[in-house]
Amino acid sequence: MKIVGFSVKRNDDMPGTRRRRRRNLRILLVLAVLMLILATIGMLIHLIVGIFSIKEDANIQYVGDIPVYEDFLPETSMARTGDKRKILYVVIHETDNVNEGADAEAHNNFIHSNGVDHELSWHYTVDDHEIWHHLPDDETAFHAGDHMEANGGNKNGIGVEMCVNSDGDYEKTLENAELLAATLLLEYDLDIDALKKHQDFSGKNCPSQLLDSGRWDEFAQKVEENLEDLKSQQTKK
Ligand SMILES: [Zn+2]
Repeated sequence: MKIVGFSVKRNDDMPGTRRRRRRNLRILLVLAVLMLILATIGMLIHLIVGIFSIKEDANIQYVGDIPVYEDFLPETSMARTGDKRKILYVVIHETDNVNEGADAEAHNNFIHSNGVDHELSWHYTVDDHEIWHHLPDDETAFHAGDHMEANGGNKNGIGVEMCVNSDGDYEKTLENAELLAATLLLEYDLDIDALKKHQDFSGKNCPSQLLDSGRWDEFAQKVEENLEDLKSQQTKK
């Protein structure tokens, strides 16, 4: 009887032990799920903060008194790579289009109609009175003729086209481009060595008028002076 009684007692205790174990297991499971939720929230916060701290675009509205009109190409067009990159250069070009009226707005229309089904894109077009902005600064584009080579002009450069239309004031276009280039260098914390010409990447004679007239160094010098001016204005603020 004693043995049976002991055995009965033992049998009575077993379900209780199982219940306790199950309860402990449940608490552990709840704790694990809570920790997983907290870790996920932490990762999401980290991701969101990361996204907002990446500078996508300098969002320049004016350089001096020259307006910058933003008219980004549709994301569905072939001209848009959608690839984000680190900005290492400002790459200077000329449109080589001397036709009357081939100004920055005309090139904005051109890139919008031709970029739909062509791998053809750059970021800014500058003329003697305004600037058009076709792509976010941090997106790779097709302007330097070097495919998507690592540390190349397409992969890492902001493409700036200068108009050479015969009814435009080329000297004023140069001035505007010199100020835009300096503004971009400042915005992306780059020095004057980051100012490049198309020729540096693919060998093409571009910007042709500037190169043919032997004025590249003069152009680069002005950009550097503008950059120093902008920096000193910034420290005064
Ligand atoms: Zn070019």
